[in-house]
Amino acid sequence: MTDDLEPHDGSELSAHGEAGTSHGAVGLKRYEHALMGTYGVPQRLLTHGQGSYVWDADGNRYLDLLGGIAVNALGHADPEWAGAIATQAATLGHVSNFFATEPQIRLAERLLEITGAPTGSRVFLCNSGTEANEAAFKLSRRTGRTRILALVDAFHGRSTGALALTHKAAYREPFAPLAPGVEWIPANDIAALEEAMGDDVAALFVEPVQGEAGVIPLTHAYLSAARELTRRHGALLIADEVQTGIGRTGTWLAMQAHGIQPDVVTLAKGLGGGFPVGALVAYGPEVATMLGKGQHGTTFGGNPLAAAAALATLDAIDHRGLLAHVKAVGEHLKQTIGAIPGVADVRGDGLLLGIALEEQISAEVAAAALEAGFIINPPSPDTIRLAPSLTLTHEEADTFVSWLAGHLAGRAARTSDAAEGSDA
Ligand SMILES: *Cc1c(COP(=O)(O)O)cnc(C)c1O
Repeated sequence: MTDDLEPHDGSELSAHGEAGTSHGAVGLKRYEHALMGTYGVPQRLLTHGQGSYVWDADGNRYLDLLGGIAVNALGHADPEWAGAIATQAATLGHVSNFFATEPQIRLAERLLEITGAPTGSRVFLCNSGTEANEAAFKLSRRTGRTRILALVDAFHGRSTGALALTHKAAYREPFAPLAPGVEWIPANDIAALEEAMGDDVAALFVEPVQGEAGVIPLTHAYLSAARELTRRHGALLIADEVQTGIGRTGTWLAMQAHGIQPDVVTLAKGLGGGFPVGALVAYGPEVATMLGKGQHGTTFGGNPLAAAAALATLDAIDHRGLLAHVKAVGEHLKQTIGAIPGVADVRGDGLLLGIALEEQISAEVAAAALEAGFIINPPSPDTIRLAPSLTLTHEEADTFVSWLAGHLAGRAARTSDAAEGSDA
């Protein structure tokens, strides 16, 4: 081992590990030397998980309230999920798309069922959210129109088509020129949508709850207007449910709670329960046949191993009654956190919640939470996002609520002490 790999400041990396000797600190140094810096330096080196908890290399336990960013639907190391993957791996792990497999067919059938898609609907299987949206982007071009509407603060992924739909300039501009034709209009602004909509629009992309933007739900009125206006002008309504789908908000799709059927739904994050799987569902025979033979594809799409992982996830959500559970725990979290002084509002539904703080301190709170054994995420300066596994219990949720209340109260007391101190 070279000197370079010695941790310089292990104390910053682990609260409990001894500076300079912690396994985590050494591992994170090796990370820095081996992996590209696209994510910055990770916060901890994790070794294993069980249910709602993960452990780091120094033996510290964390309640995972981010769930791998809305991915670990069944928590960590779920035995049924792990067993289904192991069994499939020992049976048939991968075949090319020149051949079909039973898990792939069953997954597509299951997705058509849970999305309530009408007769003639079809599924395209892929490996990630960005790929699902890339497929939707290409599908929209097949309308023969090239104008696409997306929303301010939208996040649709990082491949160049999905990136062309993503709003944040800092993500897009270094890679210009991207695919042309995309315009952004403010979310929840029906007048702006009416003005932008026309017979030359191929598609409107929406996230029913804008996750990366800080958990900003689109209103029922807005989504209804979006459905009505896209239909009137022959444009596709494409719902990016990569984050909100697969039970995250308490229904299979967030759009189902609104009673609105889009033309296309994209899925990924929670679908594989931690195994990389993405999907696009095209509603109805017309949209379902817009991408024809040879017009799209991916080597791994519908791979039986991935399909088995997704099927195990969907079956568990069903058999364990997790949709109702998500609603109950989500409502409990919303009420208890909403009552904490220092919390302005709790947005979102089910287990996709944005805690709006009265001050711009979300990064500081997230750092303190990690030290205290809670994984949360600050998507914007005043918002904390929770997207835990769908199996999170009321008791587990309560441990975080108590910690947050104590932390914000302690912070308020210190601030007022400091103010009195300066008065004296
Ligand atoms: C995460 C996310 C994506 C991108 O998915 P990847 O699997 O990271 O490519 C796209 N859309 C939404 C709404 C997301 O939350």
